[in-house]
Amino acid sequence: MPDHAGCSRRDVFKLAAAVGLGGGAAGLLADTPPADVAKPGAAPRNIILMVSDGMSLGVPSLAEAFSHAARQRGTAWARLLTTPGVVHGLFDTSSLNSLVTDSAAASSAWGSGSRVFNGALNVLPDGTRLTPIGVLTRDSGRRVGLVTTTRITHATPAGVAAVQPSRDDENDIAPQYVRCVDVLLGGGRKHFAPGERNDGRDVLREYADAGFTVWTHRSEVSSGPRPDRVLGLFDSGHLPYVIDVRNTPELTERIPTLAELSAAAIDILARSERGYLLQIEGGRVDHAAHANDAAALLWEQLSFDDALDTVLHLVSERDDTLLIVTSDHGNSNPGLNGMGDDYRDSPRCLERVVGARASFAACEKRRGGRPSRELVADVLRASTGVELSSTEIDAVHAALTGADRRAVLNRQQSGWAGVLGQALSNHFGIGWTGTTHTQDWVLVSAIGPGAQRFTGLRHHVAWFAEVAGLWGIRHQNPEMSAEEAARFAGRVPGVAAAHWA
Ligand SMILES: [Zn+2]
Repeated sequence: MPDHAGCSRRDVFKLAAAVGLGGGAAGLLADTPPADVAKPGAAPRNIILMVSDGMSLGVPSLAEAFSHAARQRGTAWARLLTTPGVVHGLFDTSSLNSLVTDSAAASSAWGSGSRVFNGALNVLPDGTRLTPIGVLTRDSGRRVGLVTTTRITHATPAGVAAVQPSRDDENDIAPQYVRCVDVLLGGGRKHFAPGERNDGRDVLREYADAGFTVWTHRSEVSSGPRPDRVLGLFDSGHLPYVIDVRNTPELTERIPTLAELSAAAIDILARSERGYLLQIEGGRVDHAAHANDAAALLWEQLSFDDALDTVLHLVSERDDTLLIVTSDHGNSNPGLNGMGDDYRDSPRCLERVVGARASFAACEKRRGGRPSRELVADVLRASTGVELSSTEIDAVHAALTGADRRAVLNRQQSGWAGVLGQALSNHFGIGWTGTTHTQDWVLVSAIGPGAQRFTGLRHHVAWFAEVAGLWGIRHQNPEMSAEEAARFAGRVPGVAAAHWA
């Protein structure tokens, strides 16, 4: 066992960034973290929060096995988990009105340090508006960046820099970032462009007037000048699924990868004299989980992991950046089951997922309104790489056309995607608990100055408190108790108050 007691934080970053540990990373496991990595009181200059949205606890291990099957190498997150000195813990994700959070309540929890009701962005049930960490960071003289694969106005980025009673009001969220964010990269042009907004307001012009350069194409991200403020909108809605981008040349040319977006954001923000806060979201792991679409989910997670790899390399040359990698909640809890005699078929089942060529969403576009059974069979064969049985095709076709849903016992999976997800589980070996978010704790890994604050089981609200503490940021945000919240909600949540204590 090597002695890591004397290695510096920079060494730990380099260890975590090292590519090709040859699968021998487990041999680097240390009994105790290096003492200076756990040094209390060291304040980071920069803080990067990476969020794989809707990533259940089983996804990193599934992604590790899938990465080996699909591209003969492991993942950056598994490397982090086997690097001495990297800190690991869990986040409780519960919101103010449910054990199961949505993305708005989750990002508000770390965005302003208080649980809120699902659907709200930094607004308490009594209407109190909280000040998000993006605004507090800007006021402290630092710069702020938001990167995502969803619409940039979607819940997770919005929780860092917007205040809105309902996450659905994305037209009202779009203009808010101009006050505190310098780098905005993702999708969601329809909430900025006058020709696409239903009220005709020219939010693009408002950003341009505030000094933003607008990017629309991958080429502007990978090469070309790096303006001080940039609004990059690469699609009208969410960025397309990675599995569809990989298999569609027009999309490959136009849509930047999350790794490229992350590198560009760090490049720009690194000019900040006092440091920066950057949130990077792999936002569509969640969407694929809602759809029970294993192939789409795994390619999204690998794309997020590539971004993590890039970030680790970029910050490994410095020892002033705190990197935290986590999720906002679980979703449908995918997992590889034991398949066949003595479970010997499980690896072969997972390898089948590598053959998938399109997301369920892309299949849906191809099938048209009320597809014939033959069309459904053809599209599924071409897209999933799997020869479904006649009974399985019947079930998917019936769900698509609304002909028969009686056979579905788990009502969450009564939609066509849920039925297809179950049919494919016979071939991929990947099962699902439903099609919605779950209550599970989520994994958090942290590296860099201040990382030791993220060990053990904490609630998401602790992230805000720790960041504010590390940066000496003062704020007035109250945290509402469950009892106070219940007065506004008119009902007491059904779980013991001790849970919120
Ligand atoms: Zn979701």
